[in-house]
Amino acid sequence: MTMKKIPHRIYLTEDQMPRQWYNLRADMKEQPDPMLNPATLKPATQEDLYPVFCKELARQEMDAATRYVDIPEEVQEFYHMYRPSPLCRAYNLEKALDTPAKIYYKFEGNNTSGSHKLNSAVAQAYYAKKEGLTGLTTETGAGQWGTALAEACAFFGLPLTVFMVKVSFEQKPFRKAVIQTFDGNVIASPSSSTEAGRKILAENPNTGGSLGCAISEAVEKAVSTPGCRYVLGSVLNQVLLHQSIIGLETKQAMELIDEYPDLIIGCAGGGSNLGGLIAPFMQDKLTGKANPRIIAVEPASCPSLTRGRYAYDFCDTARITPMARMYTLGSGFMPSPNHAGGLRYHGMSPILSKLYHDGFMEAVSVEQTRVFEAATFFAKQETILPAPESAHAIRTAIDEAKKCKETGEAKTILFGLTGTGYFDMTAYSSYLEGNMSDYIPTDEDLKPGFASLPDIPQNQR
Ligand SMILES: *Cc1c(COP(=O)(O)O)cnc(C)c1O
Repeated sequence: MTMKKIPHRIYLTEDQMPRQWYNLRADMKEQPDPMLNPATLKPATQEDLYPVFCKELARQEMDAATRYVDIPEEVQEFYHMYRPSPLCRAYNLEKALDTPAKIYYKFEGNNTSGSHKLNSAVAQAYYAKKEGLTGLTTETGAGQWGTALAEACAFFGLPLTVFMVKVSFEQKPFRKAVIQTFDGNVIASPSSSTEAGRKILAENPNTGGSLGCAISEAVEKAVSTPGCRYVLGSVLNQVLLHQSIIGLETKQAMELIDEYPDLIIGCAGGGSNLGGLIAPFMQDKLTGKANPRIIAVEPASCPSLTRGRYAYDFCDTARITPMARMYTLGSGFMPSPNHAGGLRYHGMSPILSKLYHDGFMEAVSVEQTRVFEAATFFAKQETILPAPESAHAIRTAIDEAKKCKETGEAKTILFGLTGTGYFDMTAYSSYLEGNMSDYIPTDEDLKPGFASLPDIPQNQR
């Protein structure tokens, strides 16, 4: 048999695309600790989740047993508009690094939201519409989640209100225009449309807002509007389930070219892209079929896995979701204002936290100037301008490929390229102009965040 050259981009056909999501919990012998109802401190029931999530999503959140979940036809149809995403062989990056390693990346930036977030936004909007909800609210920081949800809500005809932190609203007018194109109602936060916003404006009329404030407004609007829910784009079990499409496609595409990764690398904010990418490979690891190394990469300025506590905390800064046991810096943690690269979430997916705690994956933290150095280097070799978040994974993939050069090992490295960086050009400019610096919090800096952890018996162990 002659060895054909593996193409630069490997695509599945529509027929080959996965029709089911994969639920990693079904293969975990040790389960994540149960979510707690904050009022009773007892394990939360599915019914406890109904005020927060629509019924099917509450079911998915609690269901640790069903291994494969059918992707609804309508969601598959939507996926076909922008999926499968390509699995790319980074020939030019390999060459530039002069490494014997084979490097692959799964590119999720080929849709208008510019990131993997659309994979779950579509599912969440679909179930909300099917259940007869009449609106959704959310907040947006970097803007990818707000855009993804607006795309999905426009498709299913569901009104969406996005509370956008006022400084971003003013600094990123194009992001706002994209969301408005999809009929999203964008409100600068703090706003006079909610009690929480009016209170903050009364105290400080010139404030630029904050993510915490935008979340409070989005939550208030959702709970005070009949048929309306607030939705989250990461961390939750249901979001990891939807994002498993990334890993399932990747594994299938690698099978087509007779490859299997020795090393899988992903950036980690709340853990949704990483959880999705690794899902079927972690299944192999949990069932003893294969043993790839898995590395989560986080910013040194927001180090939840590498320096956080494994404790019960709220999944959202508004403290409305049940409490989950996860690696967290505390919902009161504030990343340094000089931190540019996203991934500023305080906690980490409870599923990934448990797998990390039990030694099934590793974590590293990287400083942002090294992240942008990797981003610009990668862009020049592979012609994709990566999102700063994604560049955390690129940084570690490059570091690992360099190690292969030293040892002469031809490892197969796979990483997740979660999105494009077009809306992050302020951060790129600051790097290119030499104005970016690194900031690593001291143990003292982390104390207020840990002090904000819920003071409950479960956290005293
Ligand atoms: C939101 C986002 C992330 C981080 O979120 P996870 O839930 O950790 O995946 C990473 N990359 C991009 C491009 C994003 O938009």
